[in-house]
Amino acid sequence: MQTAYPAEPYKIKVVEPIAVTTRAERERFIADAGHNTFLLRSDQCTIDLLTDSGTTAMSDRQWAGMMLGDEAYAGSRNFLHLQQVVRDYYGFRHIVPTHQGRGAENLLSMILIRPGDFVPGNMYFTTTRAHQERNGATFVDIIVDEAHDSQVELPFKGNVDLAKLERLIDEVGPSRIPYVCLAVTVNLAGGQPVSMENMRSVAMLCRRHGIRVMYDATRCIENAYFIKTREAGYEDVSIADILKEMMSYADGCTMSGKKDCLVNIGGFLCMNDDELYQKASELVVLFEGMPSYGGLAGRDMEAMARGIIESVDYAYIHHRVSQCRYLADRLAAAGIPVVRPTGGHAVFIDAGAFLPHVPQDLFPAQALAAALFVEGGVRAMERGIVSAGRNRDTGDHHRPKLELVRLTIPRRVYTYAHLDAVADACIRLHERRDEIGGLEMVYEPKVLRFFTARFRPLAA
Ligand SMILES: *Cc1c(COP(=O)(O)O)cnc(C)c1O
Repeated sequence: MQTAYPAEPYKIKVVEPIAVTTRAERERFIADAGHNTFLLRSDQCTIDLLTDSGTTAMSDRQWAGMMLGDEAYAGSRNFLHLQQVVRDYYGFRHIVPTHQGRGAENLLSMILIRPGDFVPGNMYFTTTRAHQERNGATFVDIIVDEAHDSQVELPFKGNVDLAKLERLIDEVGPSRIPYVCLAVTVNLAGGQPVSMENMRSVAMLCRRHGIRVMYDATRCIENAYFIKTREAGYEDVSIADILKEMMSYADGCTMSGKKDCLVNIGGFLCMNDDELYQKASELVVLFEGMPSYGGLAGRDMEAMARGIIESVDYAYIHHRVSQCRYLADRLAAAGIPVVRPTGGHAVFIDAGAFLPHVPQDLFPAQALAAALFVEGGVRAMERGIVSAGRNRDTGDHHRPKLELVRLTIPRRVYTYAHLDAVADACIRLHERRDEIGGLEMVYEPKVLRFFTARFRPLAA
């Protein structure tokens, strides 16, 4: 059905030169970085696919809007514009701006969670869960089982398993569940979407029990695109109308503007409830700033308002998701194992299957990410045993089922020619994968070790 890949729906007005390096230089760079792509400098990378967070290219209209920044301490016109745009496109009554997504998560968790509560969610996200736990809640995973299997081809692998949610409500009672946290799409499942039908069912079940539903709306435009292209009855509905309907099944949301709002910094918290808004606008002063700027400059709020309007353009989101599909299709055609189906923001290579001769304790995904940098100047990220960390009680490694390398596509930044360069480098590596050996960890920080751990290569 989907065979063609749409051309870039933009033309290039400003260019940023990227590093052109030799293999000898890249070998030195990765050795200096301890074979950890997080420790590379960005000016050493030719194609930087570390993350799609805050790495977006803004449009001429957004940059023009930056010049219209009203840097008043209170009552900035850019806040009023942002407020109006969020009301129009997301449909919530109240918005509290924050410096980024986790600022909104902090406010929401502090206001709604009491120690001993349970917060069900469709797989966790790192910062979201950290804020819930910090405020005394236990996170409970209620995503469908298939989400944990990299090869099951299902259109909506981010869905909530309603039976799991009902079981939790029966077990602990609705009064100990302040809200259900529904991520649309699910980042850690590989960018997998939630169907409209599932959102509707979650809302009905929760309303019956008087439980709030708060969305992690960070990637909601990608989710709306998958509903349009995969869910019966939505083929002819616009992205804007799908987004509005999605949000009608929530009582509020947290948002990282650094993803689907097409900006480099920013976020917000939304809700319909007046009392919740009252509490959030009191608390935001303590952590972010006045409720009319929340840690953002006027120009940042203007760029975000304009980014939200651009984000519902079908041509934009069709191209973005198609770029992910293009890269995944090229890799799969060459026999490289990738997570299926392709999500909305990244391609995940199954490093365990790519390097079957490297045992998990020798960090195959870390080794593959380092080798990919040397081969093509491509910066990717390990999502495997290094990221999973250690068991606090036994001190042993967590050994996740999936040992992955993530290639994340920034929005509106790279062309298909760049993605060809990435694919070609992966294919060349795959052809001589026997030569890639594992790594030994020579420095291990106590927490979030993947950011700063250092490694030494072992012979293949
Ligand atoms: C990035 C992200 C967040 C956190 O947002 P920040 O802006 O990085 O604080 C929360 N949830 C999801 C799904 C994300 O991808």
